[in-house]
Formats: sequence, C-alpha cells, structure tokens
Amino acid sequence: MKEQMISITGARTHNLRNVSLDIPKNRLVVFTGLSGSGKSSLVFDTIHTEAQRQLIETFSSFARRRLPKLSRPDVDEIKNIGTSIVIDQKRMGRTMRSTVGTATELSTYLRMLFSRCGKTPDAALYPSFFFSFNHPEGMCPSCSGLGKRIQVDTSRLLDRTKSLKEGAVTHPDFKVGGWNWRELLATGLFQVDLPLEQWSEKDLETLLYADKIPVQRAHAAGSYLKYHEGLCTKLERLYVNKAEDDLPETRKNAYSLYFTHQDCTDCGGHRLNRRALGVTVEGFTIAELSSMELSALDGFLSSLAGRNDKAADLLVFKMRRILSHLIGIGVGYLSLSRAVATLSGGESQRVKMARQLDCDLVDLMYILDEPTTGLHPCDSERLIALMRSLRDKGNSVLVVEHDPDVIMSADWVVDIGPGAGVSGGHVLFAGEPSAMLASGSVTGHAISAGRLAQTAGRKRREWKDSYRIEDASIHNLRSVSCSIPKGVLTCVTGVAGSGKSSLIGGVFVPSHPEAVLIDQTAITGNSRSTPASYIGVFDLMRKEFSAVTGKKPGLFSFNSEGGCPKCGGSGCIQIEMSFLDDVRMVCDECGGKRYNEEALAVSCRGKTISEVLAMTPDEAAGFFTTKEIARRLKVLSEVGLDYISIGQPLSTLSGGECQRLKLATELHKKGGLYVMDEPTTGLHLNDIGRLLAIVDRLVRGGNTVIVIEHNIDFIRAADWVIDMGPGGGKDGGRIVASGTPETVAKNRDSVTGRYLMQ
Ligand code: ADP
Ligand code: ADP
Ligand code: ZN
Ligand code: ZN
Repeated sequence: MKEQMISITGARTHNLRNVSLDIPKNRLVVFTGLSGSGKSSLVFDTIHTEAQRQLIETFSSFARRRLPKLSRPDVDEIKNIGTSIVIDQKRMGRTMRSTVGTATELSTYLRMLFSRCGKTPDAALYPSFFFSFNHPEGMCPSCSGLGKRIQVDTSRLLDRTKSLKEGAVTHPDFKVGGWNWRELLATGLFQVDLPLEQWSEKDLETLLYADKIPVQRAHAAGSYLKYHEGLCTKLERLYVNKAEDDLPETRKNAYSLYFTHQDCTDCGGHRLNRRALGVTVEGFTIAELSSMELSALDGFLSSLAGRNDKAADLLVFKMRRILSHLIGIGVGYLSLSRAVATLSGGESQRVKMARQLDCDLVDLMYILDEPTTGLHPCDSERLIALMRSLRDKGNSVLVVEHDPDVIMSADWVVDIGPGAGVSGGHVLFAGEPSAMLASGSVTGHAISAGRLAQTAGRKRREWKDSYRIEDASIHNLRSVSCSIPKGVLTCVTGVAGSGKSSLIGGVFVPSHPEAVLIDQTAITGNSRSTPASYIGVFDLMRKEFSAVTGKKPGLFSFNSEGGCPKCGGSGCIQIEMSFLDDVRMVCDECGGKRYNEEALAVSCRGKTISEVLAMTPDEAAGFFTTKEIARRLKVLSEVGLDYISIGQPLSTLSGGECQRLKLATELHKKGGLYVMDEPTTGLHLNDIGRLLAIVDRLVRGGNTVIVIEHNIDFIRAADWVIDMGPGGGKDGGRIVASGTPETVAKNRDSVTGRYLMQ
C-alpha cells in the first residue's frame, strides 16, 4: 500500500521560497535547520495555521459565523492534514489555582480515592468535593482555596510621580485616552491634574479600595448614574476569584503582573480546610500525598493494591498510568501541589505531552517545538521513546529540533536552509536521516563532522577570584557551598530537577542584584516593540526622516501620530477564538504596514518609513547617513541576527532570538556579571559556534559568564563546570563534581562527565 502523505504545494510564508514537499503521515518527522531558516514558518505558520483553518471550515455554518474567517496562509495547497495540536513551551495557565495535579487530573482521582477510602476521626461520609479546593465545602476559608494570599501590588499598579491625566495608573486597561481612563477622570472624585504623591491618604483610599461609589456621569443627552469601584477592589474581583478558564490568556498575563502572592498561613499553602486536611488514607493526608514527589506517590499507590475494592483499584490503576507517563518523561521529581505557573517552559511541555499520551484520539498531528529544551542528554532517549509512542497510537508527530540524537531517531528529516532569513527558505533535504548524512545538507554535514570545531584543544582560562555560595538550601538543595570563578565562563550542569535553577536563579542571583539575566523569556514591552526600538535606533531613524522630509518626527512613529487607526500601529489584530488558540491576523486597514496613509505618503530617499522597517540591519545601516545608526545596528549582526527585519514585532521572535537580542545590547559593556539559562535553545549546531564566539567576547572583555546548559559541545568549551545531581528532586541538590571539563569528565559519579568523555 502506498504511504499516505501530507502534501504541501507552493508555501511562501515569510521567507519560504515556494516550497513544495510531501511528508509521510503517522511518522516521527523532524524539521531542522539554522535559526531563522524557516522551520517555524513552515511548521507553525503554514501547516498548523492551515490545519486550523480547514478545521473551522468543517464546522456548521452556525458555528462558523461566530468565528473569525481565517485567511489561508501563503500556500497554494495542503492536502491530507488532520487536526493539529501544538504542544509548546508556553507556560500553562498562569492563574494560581492550576497545579500539576489539576492539569493532569491526578488531583481529581486522588480526591475520589479519598472520598472512597479516607478515614476520619468521626467516621462521617464525605462527598468528593469535600476534598476540592475549588469547592466551598473543601476550600480553606482564609485564602478561598488558593493556598496563597493574593493582593494587588500598588507599587506596580501606580506611578505616583504622575497625575491621573498623565497616566498614573500603569495597568494597560487604563491607558491614557482609553475608555477606562476617561471614565475614571469623569467620576469627578479626584484631582486629575495632581501627581498622586501629593494626594491625601483618603483620596488614594477611594481610588484603590472604594466599594462602588455612585457618581453622576454627564452625557450629551443628560446625565446618568454610574459607580466608581476602587482599582484594587475591581482587579481582585476580576482576577482572584475567577476560575482558570474564564479569563482569556491574553488578559491573564496583563492581570498577573500586578499581583503579589504569599503562602496562606492557615492551610500552609495546601488550600484545603482543616476538616479535609485531617482525613487520611493509610496514614497519609491528601496534603502530604500532594506534596510528595510523583515517583514517591507512585510507590505509595502501588502499596494500596489488594484492598478488594474494585472502584479504588480502578482509580489507582488510572493514576498510576498517568504517573508512569510523567515519570517516563523525566518529571517524576515534581509534585501534585506544584503550581504550574512555577514550571519552566520545558517542564510545562513535558506535562502537556504526558497528558496527551493519555488521550485516546487517533490520527492527530502533534507539533512540538524543541522538546529537548531543559533535558540532559541522558534524558533524550526517554523523550524519543515518548514521541514514538505518540506516533504508534496512529498519529503524525512533527518536531522542530536541533538535537542530533533526536534528528537521527526520526523516521523522516526535513532540513531547511541553507542560511537564515532571505538566505534560507529552501528544503535542502527530505528523507531518512541516514541519507541526510550522505547528502551533505547543512545539518547532514554538521552532524557527520561531529564536534564543534572551536572546542577541540581549547585552552582553559585561569582564574583567581571567585564568588562564594554558602549553605544554600532552598527547594531541593542540600546545604550547598561552592565557588563560582570570576572572569571566566562557568557552566552549571545536571539532569532536569537537579537544582541548577534553584542554585543560580534562586540563591546566587538574588544576592547579586548587579547580575544581568539573559534568559529566553519574551522581551516585555508592548506588541508594537521592534528590534529597532529595542536597541534604541528607531528614534534616530525618525529624526533623520524628519530632517530630510521636513515633517515632524512623530509622523514616523506608529505609536503615535503616524499609527494606523485600526490596529493602533501593531500591524495585526489579535482575535480570541473561544476554544482554539488566539489568532493574529494582518490588519486589513494598513495591510500590516502599521502606518496611516499620511505617513505612508512621505518618503526619504525613495523609501517610506514602513519600507525601512522591513529592511535587514545591514540594509538599514547602508540606507541611513547618521553614523550612530550604523554603529548600533552592527551589534545585531554580531549576535547573528543579520537576517531579521528591524521592524519585526518582538512578539514574533523565537526565544533564542530574543536572547540574542538581549545579548546584543550587552556586548559592549565591561566588568559585568552575566547569567544565562540554556542559551543554546533554538540553535543549530552551527549557531552554537556563533553563540560561543559571543560569549568568548564577553569574557575577553573582563566579564563573568555563568551558564545553565545541557549542550555537551557548549559545556566542553567552558572554563569551569559545576555539575549538580546526581538525580532530580530529592535525588539531586548536591554538587557531584566541579572543575575544568577535563576534571569533570574523569569523575565517575558524574553523568555529565560520561558524556564529556565521548
Ligand atoms: P526558524 O523557525 O527556522 O528559526 P522562522 O520560520 O521563525 O525560522 O523565520 C524565518 C524567517 O521569517 C526569519 O527571517 C524571520 O525573521 C522571519 N519571520 C518569522 N516570523 C515572522 C513574522 N511574523 N513576520 C515577518 N517575518 C517573520
Ligand atoms: P533544574 O534547574 O536543575 O532543572 P530546579 O532547580 O528547577 O532544577 O529544581 C530543583 C528541585 O526544586 C525540583 O525538585 C523542583 O521541583 C524544585 N523546585 C524548583 N522550583 C520550585 C518552586 N518554585 N517551588 C517549589 N519547588 C521548586
Ligand atoms: Zn489557606
Ligand atoms: Zn493597521
């Protein structure tokens, strides 16, 4: 029988060069290539987007009318795609109620088990919601089942140097000129021109905590009655008591920024009331079981067998099946009570994957984005086994990945390149991995050449001074003391959950506030920020435009005068699609150009401001005459971002690209301390060489660089290695080895050492 193929014809999204390609269905397919070569443009922005669009077409006309009409991605045709599900690294639900237990349904089963087998001092019967922290019968009354006390952080909410009119309320819902802002000014309750720092306590109290004060609101046709509700009162009402799914994702972020959390003292963070907390099964309370590591919980459940209770046996069976997926995927060190908001991107992705393994649908197309992120090489095998089991259930698994082990384990590889941006966008190779090695495609060549050239025979830099960490014991750390050398590159290594982030992010960084963190989190800012504004050249560009054309600089700003009235200068419109992912559509007013007609009518040396923003850093450097512009743009090329357009929204940059953009602004500083979290994420073998060159430059400039890393090539290039472990969670938390890579390689107890030997 001929194999079924997903058949793509003429894909041109972003930098794709009219790509046509067949991908076998029900296989494990890996997409690889340099950062910026076009992998995401093909897999996410073409295949996934088209799958979502085709899915909507299958809905009844009634449902379709309620959903936005999605435009087809720039592709002639895609045949044979099914329903696609993205398992990404976006963190899961950010509200505080969500835990590993609720996200995997394990908490539901555990509660059912307790209501069936639980023992209480007074032997009364309990319905299962008695054990639910979401239900009034079970929740801790002090914290309403949140385990935390949540309050608006007024220092973040207000900028006291400003008046209301100037935008003293920093929350985006109250932005100057917006509806809420106008309503607030119109209450007549406040001195709107007075900076808040000059307000009386009583007025501040009214602004923040008033409990609905009636006010007359004047209107063209008379006046009507409205209410002023204090800002904190309102935000807490909207946010704190909302169930997980009632707030759209985009809003949750905006809200959560303005809150602080502290453990509830009444329930000790366990969220349940005292009666519920007192019930036991085999001597354990639900709180104790929820804070156990998953692997220990599995051990406990296995000891419950043979109770002669079919219903309890079934619950235990179901729980152990979910647990086996979680443990198998390498997160057995987590606990049910762990808030998902505190999981790393890689951990979130693995919890989501485990959840999918328990799903009985077939013929789905799973799309994964760099699942090896956060995994030690010794865990890659388990990950590959899990992706294969998703495939063996009759699904297609499409993976964007750089890890050679994962690439070589695929059924089919698609190598995209040869370069990034305009130099990429072609399919260089598609077929079985062994054939790729022989083909000499970019990735084929890099893998067959083996090790990164720069690491061979590398000289270790000497160091004298060091930072000290004494007796660190947060999370799983076992009273760790160590030295971190100054003026060199140190890698902190170890399996996931061994305590690397706890040591560096939890202990070291807080005591060194001067440290510059370069992580992969999206750069905050609004949806209108761009690389040009981030590195501070956009102002200079507008000035030059203004000088040449004689118009005001403001006209060339999409944030103000020049902005497209429909999309407010973002170039796209975000649409919330009840049960599907949010969709961003290109603004139909400006066609994504961000500017209004007046601004687009003006050109400087033949280019409009919008055309300039579409340029690469090199093109822009050549276009402008202001020397400072070229000087600042050069750093983008230095960190390997020569292929992006300088006006691309920061929100469309990948994690790796955000990280390099942050690096770009740091490169020319001296004497600093830099901490990076897995900087190789998103990087092809060839890109890793480039990153290393940047880090070397930082070190030569007299800086100290500390990197949490799993990539063996990168670790091999370090001057010093601190290897944590030996395992994850309670099996970790110690320093197994520290020294030069050669020393660690010789240490028989170090798992990392074994990989360094090869
Ligand atoms: P990869 O996934 O291989 O790293 P991408 O597909 O993300 O590469 O990017 C390919 C090219 O398309 C890059 O030049 C990138 O800057 C550009 N690009 C990606 N997303 C967008 C977007 N939303 N708008 C414009 N250009 C984009
Ligand atoms: P690594 O960075 O090596 O993957 P972490 O330092 O993140 O490891 O985790 C070490 C241990 O500490 C794990 O058992 C993890 O579950 C626990 N841990 C990490 N962060 C938190 C947190 N915010 N709250 C509770 N436990 C945590
Ligand atoms: Zn409580
Ligand atoms: Zn627009």
